[in-house]
Amino acid sequence: AQDSGINRWVYCSEEIKRDSMNQVTISEALYQADLEKEFCVVYQPQVQLETNRMVGVEALVRWQHPELGIISPGIFIEIAEKNGFIVPLGNWILERACRQVQELTELSEEPLNLAVNVSFIQIQQEQFVEETLAILQKTGFPPERLEIELTERSLFENRMEDLQKIEELRSHGIRIAIDDFGTGYSSFGILAKVKVDKIKVPREFIDRVDSNQNSQRIVETITSMAERFELTCLAEGIEREEESTFLRQLICQEVQGYYYAKPVEIHKIKQWNKSAGE
Ligand code: C2E
Ligand code: CA
Ligand code: CA
Repeated sequence: AQDSGINRWVYCSEEIKRDSMNQVTISEALYQADLEKEFCVVYQPQVQLETNRMVGVEALVRWQHPELGIISPGIFIEIAEKNGFIVPLGNWILERACRQVQELTELSEEPLNLAVNVSFIQIQQEQFVEETLAILQKTGFPPERLEIELTERSLFENRMEDLQKIEELRSHGIRIAIDDFGTGYSSFGILAKVKVDKIKVPREFIDRVDSNQNSQRIVETITSMAERFELTCLAEGIEREEESTFLRQLICQEVQGYYYAKPVEIHKIKQWNKSAGE
């Protein structure tokens, strides 16, 4: 028992050292990264539950470093937020996604909505609204088809002027979705403070929702709350048919998840509606 304490301490301190080493390595690699060569954007279909049709896509960034290999956004986004790289990266992602989706939909009659994740660090930039509008103009992407996904954190931590930025974006027709609704500190606080358009029910509540009573209660509460606030509800992380069947009993307009489609490169998006059994 005596040395298990010491061993644990040694183990922990090595873990921490290794982790912080990685953080520094990743942080430096981000700053040296060649955006065009190392990063790409993939798209996951967002599907209308009633009709089974793709109504939009969520853009998700991918990073392949020449030596470090594939690094997941779950790891590097937080580091990019800390070192500020998220600002140029976020602009690059938005521009790339607008351009690719615009090019895709120019070829077909059916327009697609585009959802883009935006970090709270980006919102806090004074130029955020201006830069976002400039990217829309440059790419010709219609603002009414852009949706910005924000986490509760990004809205909660924000000052008055950042809430005003959200109103300004909405006045241009851009929609706002709250990502991972109900996992932050102040879900109701946000709805009281600012008007949004959509809420996304997080994967952790959808997982096994058909058999877990607590998840059922949570998901039922969130969907009926969305209805009450007249917001669109999207459930994400649907992996099984049973989960999708459960959601059909509720008021939830849209779904997203591996059961429908994994995130793919833009050229594979075109075929989705066709391959979905029409
Ligand atoms: P998120 O915004 O909640 O994105 C959903 C994540 O769940 C994505 O992981 C997606 O690939 C994954 N996913 C989708 N359907 C399923 C499913 O059915 N089962 C499971 N197990 N997973 C599913 P990804 O791409 O690794 O992104 C992780 C997080 O990193 C995102 O969570 C988001 O917070 C952040 N992120 C990703 N791309 C961007 C970006 O372009 N900008 C910013 N600021 N953050 C991003
Ligand atoms: Ca998201
Ligand atoms: Ca989410």
